[in-house]
Amino acid sequence: MAEIQEFPCPNCGSELNFDSESIQLKCLHCHSKFPIETSTHIIEEKPIEELRKWFKSPNKELKQIAYACKKCGQTTFINNNEVFFECKDCGNNAMNTEAYGFNPISPSSIIPFSISKSEAQDAFTKWISKGFWYDSDLKDLSITDSLEGHYIPFWTFDANTYNQWSGEAGTYYFEQQAYTDSKGKRATRSVRKTRWRYRQGNFTHFFDDVLISGNDSISQNFVQQVYPYHLQELKPLNEKYILGWKAKSYEKSVEQCYHMAKEHMNGQIYNMSANYLKGDTYRNLRVNTNFTEESFKLIVLPLWLCTYLFKGKAYHFIINGQTGKIYGDKPLNKVKIGLAILLAILIIIAIAVLSKG
Ligand SMILES: [Zn+2]
Ligand SMILES: [Zn+2]
Repeated sequence: MAEIQEFPCPNCGSELNFDSESIQLKCLHCHSKFPIETSTHIIEEKPIEELRKWFKSPNKELKQIAYACKKCGQTTFINNNEVFFECKDCGNNAMNTEAYGFNPISPSSIIPFSISKSEAQDAFTKWISKGFWYDSDLKDLSITDSLEGHYIPFWTFDANTYNQWSGEAGTYYFEQQAYTDSKGKRATRSVRKTRWRYRQGNFTHFFDDVLISGNDSISQNFVQQVYPYHLQELKPLNEKYILGWKAKSYEKSVEQCYHMAKEHMNGQIYNMSANYLKGDTYRNLRVNTNFTEESFKLIVLPLWLCTYLFKGKAYHFIINGQTGKIYGDKPLNKVKIGLAILLAILIIIAIAVLSKG
């Protein structure tokens, strides 16, 4: 039996939600506000060996659990990885406090929402009406019902790296070359050549908080468009910040997220090495990296998610719940684009005609 906890308003017994504007709990009925006690617990990074232990153990299986509402007696079914839910009958708030313990590793800290729903809506309205190529009907779109605030589990990875690189740096130079042109005349032209020189070197780089989403439904490429999150504002996890918001434990496998972080770091190391090596260009770059002091933590970050329909097609966007940074898909106006392509073709034809004349 899952551990279900309720947080009724001490004044009227109604539901309390975490209010992103006041950073307090707020009663939906009598509007009383209650501060959330902050803990001084230090948010620690754990050595990567603790994570490696779980590489081969799969996440637990999803199960439905029944919750009998203490207010109205109705039974609501929820998934065992869902943290917060509401009674489907009376809307009573409840918290499945075991959800974060559903998988082997529980989150240690959280950044609470500071962008409210109305601020998220305003951000959307501003964003959607910007840009010439988009449909002007978009600005009247209402997204109130589909805009949802989610607390998403993220892994952060730290590592110190020692990198040895070697390769060939290329420097361009020009040579005069004789040739016969199309009219049979001899002429000279300047040809670009590359002089190659073997080089090697090493450098250290510390990666601090490489952020990988543990959520399955939004791709990593999509979510990182609304980075950064200011992680210095992380607070020890307190479930009261989650009251009234959607939240789940992580879904991707621990090993998969670790490898995604490694791939990201290796990509950055390769680019840094290329910058050290290159003159005008480079080839045969080899990099050898030694990772030390690897650590991780599991945290929870706020994100607004929305899917909206426009002319029968679905589009997605997301908003960073801490900073308000927005990213997503916008439908292009086909008429405007069609006209632009037509104009470009006409210009090309005109240039061709003029240059022949
Ligand atoms: Zn109340
Ligand atoms: Zn109920």
